[in-house]
Amino acid sequence: MTTSVLSGSAKHHGLAAHEVVLLLETDAHRGLGVLEAGERLGRYGPNTLPPAKGAGLLRRILSQFHHPLIYVLNAAGVITAVLGEYVDSAVIFGVVLINAVIGFIQESKAEAALEGLRSMARTQATVIRDGHRRIVASEDLVPGDLVLLDAGDKVPADMRLIRLAELRINESALTGESVPVGKDEVVLAEPVPVADRHNMAYSDTLVTTGSGAGIVIATGAETELGQIHRLVGSAQILDTPLTQKLAGFSKILTVAILALAAVTFAVGLLRGHDAVETFTAAIALAVGAIPEGLPAAVTITLAIGVTRMARRRAVIRRLPAVETLGSTTVICSDKTGTLTENQMTVRNLWTTAGLYEVTGSGYVPHGALHSPAGEMTTVDADHALRWTLLAGAACNDAALTHRDGHWDIVGDPTEGAMVVVANKAGFASDQVKSMLAREATIPFSSDRQYMATLHRDATSGTSHGQVVLAKGGVERMLELCGAQMDADGTVGGLDRDVVLEAAGELARRGLRVLATAMRPATGAEDFAEDRLPGGMVLIGLQAMLDPPRAAATTAVAACRTAGIKVKMITGDHAATATAIAGQVGLLDPTETGKDRVLTGADLAALPAEELPDAVDRAAVFARVSPEQKLRLVEALQARGHVVAMTGDGVNDAPALRQAGIGVAMGASGTEVAKDAADMVLTDDDFATIEAAVEEGRGVFDNLTKFITWTLPTNIGEGLVILAAILFGAALPILPTQILWINMTTAVALGLMLAFEPKETGIMTRPPRDPDQPLLTRALMARILLVSALLVAGSWWLFQWELDNGASVAEARTAAVNVFVVVEAFYLFSCRSLTRSAWRIGMFTNRWLIAGVTVQAVGQLAITYLPAMNALFGTAPIDGGTWLRILGIALAASLVVAVDKRLRRPA
Ligand code: ADP
Ligand code: MG
Repeated sequence: MTTSVLSGSAKHHGLAAHEVVLLLETDAHRGLGVLEAGERLGRYGPNTLPPAKGAGLLRRILSQFHHPLIYVLNAAGVITAVLGEYVDSAVIFGVVLINAVIGFIQESKAEAALEGLRSMARTQATVIRDGHRRIVASEDLVPGDLVLLDAGDKVPADMRLIRLAELRINESALTGESVPVGKDEVVLAEPVPVADRHNMAYSDTLVTTGSGAGIVIATGAETELGQIHRLVGSAQILDTPLTQKLAGFSKILTVAILALAAVTFAVGLLRGHDAVETFTAAIALAVGAIPEGLPAAVTITLAIGVTRMARRRAVIRRLPAVETLGSTTVICSDKTGTLTENQMTVRNLWTTAGLYEVTGSGYVPHGALHSPAGEMTTVDADHALRWTLLAGAACNDAALTHRDGHWDIVGDPTEGAMVVVANKAGFASDQVKSMLAREATIPFSSDRQYMATLHRDATSGTSHGQVVLAKGGVERMLELCGAQMDADGTVGGLDRDVVLEAAGELARRGLRVLATAMRPATGAEDFAEDRLPGGMVLIGLQAMLDPPRAAATTAVAACRTAGIKVKMITGDHAATATAIAGQVGLLDPTETGKDRVLTGADLAALPAEELPDAVDRAAVFARVSPEQKLRLVEALQARGHVVAMTGDGVNDAPALRQAGIGVAMGASGTEVAKDAADMVLTDDDFATIEAAVEEGRGVFDNLTKFITWTLPTNIGEGLVILAAILFGAALPILPTQILWINMTTAVALGLMLAFEPKETGIMTRPPRDPDQPLLTRALMARILLVSALLVAGSWWLFQWELDNGASVAEARTAAVNVFVVVEAFYLFSCRSLTRSAWRIGMFTNRWLIAGVTVQAVGQLAITYLPAMNALFGTAPIDGGTWLRILGIALAASLVVAVDKRLRRPA
C-alpha cells in the first residue's frame, strides 16, 4: 500500500467496492487483522484532528496584549518614559508583562479543562476485525478498517460504502445541506463534488436512518473534515452571551474612562497645576478605573463550573449552557431510563384465561409462573400463554448473557425482560431460534410503537408454514388485530374492552404493558407494514416493572423547591406514566385532574392557541411521539420558559436543538442526539440534571460575587484621583500603586471566589430570570457604598498621616494598605450576597485563606522591602498606622454587614 492511495482519497468513489478492498489490503467481510490494525495505527496515527491553529503558543501570548487596557497602559508607559519618569515607566511595562503572563496561564488552564471535556465526549465505532464485531474508540480507526454504521451513529472516518440498507446520512457538517442524503453503492465514474458522492460516507456526518458497512479510506487530518478544519481553524470556544456582554461593557467602560481622564487632565491644566503631575494623575485614573481582572475571572469561573459539572456526570458540550442551566424553569424528562432504572422485569402475563404472576427479579432467568388461581403452573395448560412467551422472545433483538456468575442483557431492556420471562418458562433462546427462524423484520420505533417479524414456523413439527409475530403498545396492537387466541389455542372474536381493561389495570400499577400477536403468512411478500392491520390475532399481554431511580424522587423534590417544574415525557401508556409520576413525586396522588396528564392524541387535538397553557399546566405527557417533543418545547418557550429537554434518539434531535438546554443520554443515547445536545449525562440519571442546574446557579452566583467584590476598588480608586485633582491635593495613591492593588488583589483575592462552594440555599430560591441584569439594585447600592467607604477611609488616613508628620510616601503607603485591607475584609462578606460572613464559616474555602495569606505577604513586601519601596514609591509604616488601617477596615465591614442585614428579606 502506498501513501498516495490514502492521501488521494478523492478517487475512491470512482472505484468498485472490491477494488477499494484490494487497494486498502483489507477484507470485505473479515475486516483487518487485529495486528495489522495496530500496525497501521502506528503508521498513520490516531483518527483525530490536529489541534487548531489558534492554539499556537506565540499567538496566544501575543493575544494577551490585544486589549484596550493594555494599549492605554503601553501608551502611558511610553509617555512616562519620554517625561523622564523611568522607574514609573518600568513598573508600568512590568505590570503589562505580568498581566500578560497571568492571563496566559489562566486561559491555558481554562482551555485545558475544556479540552479534557472534549476528550470525554469522544465517540466509539463498531468495526469488524478478524471477522469479529467489536466496539473501539473512533480514535483507533485506521485506513482499511471495515466499519458498521447504524441509524444514530456519527460517521467516524471517511469511508467507501460497500453494503447498505436504506442508508441516509445528514451531511450538514460538511456541505451545509440539512436534508439527509440517500446513499447507494454504485460506482461514480465522473468526477463529482463531495456532496454528490453517494457511495461515500464522511467523517462527522450523522446517520439518520438505515444501516451500512464501509471501508475506511482516510482518517484524522486526511478526511474531508480534516481538510476543512485545516482551512478554518477552530471556533472560539470561550465565548458565551455573558462573556460577550462583558466584553462590550468593558469597551464602553474603557472609552468612558479615557474621556474622564482627558477631562481631568484638562481641568488640572486649567487650574494651573503642573502638566507632568496632572498627566500622571489622569493616567492613574484611567488605570485604576478599568476592572482588568474581570474577563479572566469570568472565563475561569465558567471553566471551574464546567469541571464541577463533569465531576457530577454532566458533560457540557456548549459553554453557554453553563449560564442557561442556572435559569432553567422547566425540565422535560424522559421517563424510561432517566426517571426510571430501565431495568425491566416481566411481573404479569395475561391471556383470556386470566392474569398470571411471575416470580424472580432482575435479569436472572430463575422464577416460576403462578396461574390466575394462585398455583404454580407451566405453559402447557394455556396455549395463549405459551405463544405470548414465544412471540415475545422471537420478535426480539435482545440477548441474555451469563458472565462470571452475573446475568445481564444485551439490547433493549424491554426486549431483554421478554427474553428473561421466556427463559423462566423453559424457552431458552437457542430453542426459540430453532423453532422460529427469523426471515424478515419490521423494527420497533417510537413512532411505530410495535415490532413485527416473519418466521419459519417449526413449532409443531408438522406445520412448516410461515408466521408473523408482533409485539408493541396495547392500543397500537389492537389496531392490528381482528381476532383473539383462547387458552385452548382456538381463534375467536376479539373483545377490545376486556383487553383494554386488563391492560389498564396493570398500567395503573405502574407496569409497562405490551401486547403480542401472530398470524400465519403465505410468503415474504405477505409481510409488509401495510398488510398487517386487521389480520393479526391477539395472543396476550406482558406487563413489566421498571422501578423509579433511587435518586429521582429527591431530585424531583429539589427541583420543586427550586421553582423548577418537572414534566415527564414518555411513549408509555398514560396510566403507567401516571403511576410512575406518582412514585417519583411528579404528581400528587390527589391530583386526578385530567389536565395534569396529556396524551399525544390530546396534544394533536388541541388548537394551537391553547397549547402553551395546556402544556404548561400538565405534568405528564404519555404516548408522545418524538416529533411532538419539538412542539412541547416551543409551547413552553412561548410561555417564557427556559426549557431543558432530554432525548436519546435520532428523532429527538430537533427538540434538543430547540430547547434552551438539550440534554442527551451518554450511556443509551445515539451520537445524533449527543451532537444536537448542549449537555450529555454520562449516567442517564435525572438527578444529574438537577445537579447540573445547581452547579449552573453556583457559577452565576460566583460571577456576581466577583463583580460585586471587584468594582468598588476601581470606582474607589477613580474617585480618589478625581477628588485629588479637583481639590488640587497631592495624589493619595500613585498610578503604579494602583496597578499593584488591581493586579495583586484580583489574582490573590478575587479569583478565589471562583472556588467558592455553593451556598446552602441555592436550590430554595426561584430560577434567575435570564433577562435580569447581573447586578440588582441592592448590589449596585452595596458597590457604591463600599466605593464610598474606600474613598473616605483612604482619603482620611492619607491626610491624617500627613498632618501628623508622616512623609508623602508613608501616607501613600497607608492609603494603599487601606484599599487592600478593606478589600480583603470585604472579600469575606462577598462570599454570600445575602448572608453575613460569620454565618458561612470563616474557613470553609481554603483557597480564600491561602489567597489572603499571599496578599498579606505581598503587602509586607511592598511596605518594607527597600527595592519595592523604590519601585512603587512606598515607605515603611509603623504599628500605629497599621492599627488605624485595621480600624478603618473593621468599621467598613461593620457598615457593610449592617447594610446586608437591613436589606435581607425577613
Ligand atoms: P419511552 O419514551 O417511555 O421509552 P417508547 O417510545 O420506547 O417509550 O415505547 C412506547 C411503547 O412502545 C411502550 O409503552 C411499549 O408498549 C412499546 N415498546 C417499547 N419498546 C418496544 C419494543 N422493543 N418492541 C415493541 N414495542 C415496544
Ligand atoms: Mg424507550
